[in-house]
Formats: sequence, structure tokens, C-alpha cells
Amino acid sequence: MIHLKSHREIDRLRKCAEFVSRVLAEVAREVEPDVTTAHLNAVAERYFRKHDAEPAFKGYRMGGLDPFPAALCVSVNDVVVHGIPGQYRLREGDLVAVDCGVRLDGYFGDSAYTFAVGSISPEKARLCQVTREALYDGIAQAVHGRRIGDVSYAVQSRCEADGFGVVRDLVGHGIGRRLHEDPEVPNVGRPDTGRKLKSGVTLCIEPMINLGTYNVTTSSDGWTVRTADGSPSAHYEHMIAVRGDTPEILTTFEFIEDVMNVPHTTTYDTYG
Ligand code: MG
Ligand code: MG
Repeated sequence: MIHLKSHREIDRLRKCAEFVSRVLAEVAREVEPDVTTAHLNAVAERYFRKHDAEPAFKGYRMGGLDPFPAALCVSVNDVVVHGIPGQYRLREGDLVAVDCGVRLDGYFGDSAYTFAVGSISPEKARLCQVTREALYDGIAQAVHGRRIGDVSYAVQSRCEADGFGVVRDLVGHGIGRRLHEDPEVPNVGRPDTGRKLKSGVTLCIEPMINLGTYNVTTSSDGWTVRTADGSPSAHYEHMIAVRGDTPEILTTFEFIEDVMNVPHTTTYDTYG
């Protein structure tokens, strides 16, 4: 069942969204060669503690696996999602996708961004650019009266036009008083199919896009998802609220972009 949020609930979710957006910007300051992925997580955990906020991923349970051990998922190169931070040292040319979740006052926030470590290959740069554009194409469909399949199709068609592999096995999701709510938001789909969107629907739209095949495998730790062919992967995630014929993007990449000294890519104005 899709839970439609009141204005008051969307206000709460906007606070959660701002929090994860700020965590990712804190992480952005630290991304450089020779830094461990554990260090990125430590920086995030310090920020959570300072603001007395609960990292939603730490202790998260999935199936019979050990609980997720960190505040961030840090996924380097061929790791698609759910990478566990550790002693790996970032290298010039790596892609590092960082995913962050928070629980604040009973509501959740969730956002992800893929960073370049130093200068990266043109193929990786293109992968990141197209994945980000596909995210905004998907968001543009998240308006009253459209369907989930319209969002999915927008993401898929944008990425496949460039020959990239759109991961099928993992999906976006509703968000609210739970981290993962109805509906699922696949990154592949057909227009005018799936659940109908209404004002008050809040979603995490999160394309996971591979330079090669869309097939993925899960490592023996049970969490780490990698591309089956070893090709690099990119992941960007925004939280949005459907509000009439305008999607409101609750998260923002602007704090990250300010840290990186690049122009803002957000294409929609936010309310309030
Ligand atoms: Mg996420
Ligand atoms: Mg998510």
C-alpha cells in the first residue's frame, strides 16, 4: 500500500533529505587518492554523532545476513551498491558511489552520489553524466497522474541510448516512516504501466547504471553487489515528493557541488 504524505510529513522528510545531502557534502571534502573508504565512513559517522542523528544503514538487516556495519555504503568502480567501507585506498581514476541514510524524528532520508577520484577516463565521466541526467529525466515523470513505469522508462531509455547497462536486480522505493516503502521504483519499465502517482507520494529514484552488462553478482559477504563483467558502475539517488504537476526534489546535490566547485545540476526549484 502506498502511504500518501501530508504537508507536515513532507516537511519532516525534507529535513531528513537535507541531512543526508549535507552528509554527502562532508564526504565530498574527503574524496581523494590514498584515502580509505573506512575514513569516508568515519567522517560521516562523526557528523551523525555531532547532530545526534541515527544512521539508518548501520545495523540494517536484510535476509539472514549480518547487520550492515556502517553508516555509508561505499561502492568503488565495479561495486554497484552496498559496498562495506574498509581498508581499500582510493586511487586516481576510481569512481566511488556513496549512499547515505538517516532516521530523524521517526522519518527517513536516503541519497546517493558517485564521486570521481582525481581525473577519470572519458567513459567513466560519460557514465556519471548520463546516469545523473537519467535521474532527472525520471524525476520529471514523477507528477500526479503519471505511473511508475513512466519514471522507469525515462531512466532506462536515457541510459540505453548510450549503450549502458541498466541494473534490473535492484530498485528505488517509497520512503517515509520506513526506509523502504511501497512502491518499488524499477529503473526499467514501460510507459503508462505500474502504480499511479498522486500528490503526496514520496519516492527514492536511484538509477544504478553499468558501463557494460546490466547483470550483477553478490559477493560472499552477502552485501557487496558487483557488475558481472567487472565494468564500472554509477549510482545517484534523490528523494522526491509528487506535488501536483511538479516533482519536488527533497534532497539536493548543491552542497556537494559547492564543495567540488562545479555548477549546480538541480533542474527543479524546491518549495519553501
Ligand atoms: Mg540510498
Ligand atoms: Mg534508496
